[in-house]
Amino acid sequence: SKKVKEDAKIEGAALIGIDVKKEQDFPNWYRQVLTKGDILDYYDVSGCYIMKPGSYHIWETIQKFFDGEIKKLGVENAYFPMFVSSKALEKEKDHVEGFAPEVAWVTRAGSSDLEEPIAIRPTSETVMYPYYAKWIRSHRDLPLKINQWNSVVRWEFKHPQPFLRTREFLWQEGHTAFLTEKEAMEEVYTILDLYRQIYEDLLAVPVIKGIKSEKEKFAGGLKTTTVEGFIPTTGRGIQGGTSHCLGQNFSKMFGITVEDPKFNGEGEKPKLHVWQNSWGITTRTIGVMIMTHGDDKGLVFPPRVANTQVIVIPCGINAKVTDDDRNAVEYRISRIVSDLCAVGVRAKSDMRDLHSPGYKFNHWELRGVPLRIEFGPGDMKKSQVLSVRRDNGVKTPIALSNVEIEVPKLLETIQSDMFIKAKTVFDSRIKQITEWEKFVPALDSKNVVLVPWCERDDCEDNIKERSSRQPDDTAVDEKAPSMGAKSLCIPFDQPEGIVKGKMKCVACNQDASVWCLFGRSY
Ligand code: AMP
Repeated sequence: SKKVKEDAKIEGAALIGIDVKKEQDFPNWYRQVLTKGDILDYYDVSGCYIMKPGSYHIWETIQKFFDGEIKKLGVENAYFPMFVSSKALEKEKDHVEGFAPEVAWVTRAGSSDLEEPIAIRPTSETVMYPYYAKWIRSHRDLPLKINQWNSVVRWEFKHPQPFLRTREFLWQEGHTAFLTEKEAMEEVYTILDLYRQIYEDLLAVPVIKGIKSEKEKFAGGLKTTTVEGFIPTTGRGIQGGTSHCLGQNFSKMFGITVEDPKFNGEGEKPKLHVWQNSWGITTRTIGVMIMTHGDDKGLVFPPRVANTQVIVIPCGINAKVTDDDRNAVEYRISRIVSDLCAVGVRAKSDMRDLHSPGYKFNHWELRGVPLRIEFGPGDMKKSQVLSVRRDNGVKTPIALSNVEIEVPKLLETIQSDMFIKAKTVFDSRIKQITEWEKFVPALDSKNVVLVPWCERDDCEDNIKERSSRQPDDTAVDEKAPSMGAKSLCIPFDQPEGIVKGKMKCVACNQDASVWCLFGRSY
């Protein structure tokens, strides 16, 4: 392995590798893992990026899982246009106010100005609901459950970041209508749990399920439920995906009604406004996953979403090795790969003559491949391979005869170990506190806080103001984020201790009604 290290040096591994540390220069590290890891490229329109096959595959994996699950719930896919007339967009007042600053408009075609500018959807409530009003005629048309996989445009002015905050992003948006609030709310929670599964079971990223405060909820909606994630390196929270109950606000504005099926009196049947939900998850998921697992050597992909799960690399083939032995090693490697593929493992080999094993190790580590298998003449004699885990570097020999059984098991172990590791970190960075004095110091040490809170809007504004770092404050790490904290969510899983009239709000000392997660966030 000393030889391998030297080879790598000779071939300039330092040049292809990441040249900054994740903990020391996180923005630069992120840029480098994405580009050198070959999953994204920058683009000449600000806030827009190219997703290369290495990251698009992750999105396809998420799509496949989620699409299968929602179809079991009776959701069907459709496609609506990306353009919205200003008349439709402006129909629901709170909604348009929430989105107006970020809406991009088409004002010209060729050389002529449009008579009326046309908006590009920032989300499709106002695109779809005029047609829901037309299609939903009777309670027998309910529930209506439609989803679309598309892209939307939000002309964000906050600092853009690949995956996390982009001006165009890919997502799915589900839009459903029910007769009753009860059915609607049930679906809201079911979808939210699917979002949790995307993060936790596919991406090995822990999230917290909860409900948004009035201030942070979706514009025009009734209740917003969320899965909240956390980026340990910066100590900032991030909204992972949202499942909204829109209540009857939109059905009132767009006139989506059915006759009351329970009414059997005289005269005209009373009209009921339907209950609506909308829910979406975006390519942000990929960024959160990369920031969570990546290390100083590059990307680290959880096996379930990795495009290549296993890379097999020939080793120890030097000048002393006979042609026969070399051929035998190469043949064995092709067998290992085909045997693994046959049991559903995404495996391939790197047989390039041009590069040394050390160079190849770096190359595939940078790209996040979860498991490396080394195989050479020495291993052949012992009838074994050497496996090397990307997540923790642990090396384990595996008998050749056991590869198809042991490798899939090892991949599942890597998957669950990655989740446990990330969860342990997240848990350790949630500080449950009750005194204001500890609030800002906890944030400054890159934590989020779980605090008793009164749930009032003005108190949330006040917390934001009081928790932003002053420019002359030199006591804390320069790189810690300085913006004020906002409420991330009121977790469904509430710790004990809120007794009405006894527990006071951490910030304003009025009665607290809930434990709320606050943090600086993306
Ligand atoms: P919303 O329709 O506002 O509830 O957004 C749905 C989800 O999209 C949010 O929960 C975020 O996770 C994600 N999201 C919001 N803005 C962006 C953006 N600019 N880029 C990527 N993802 C986003």
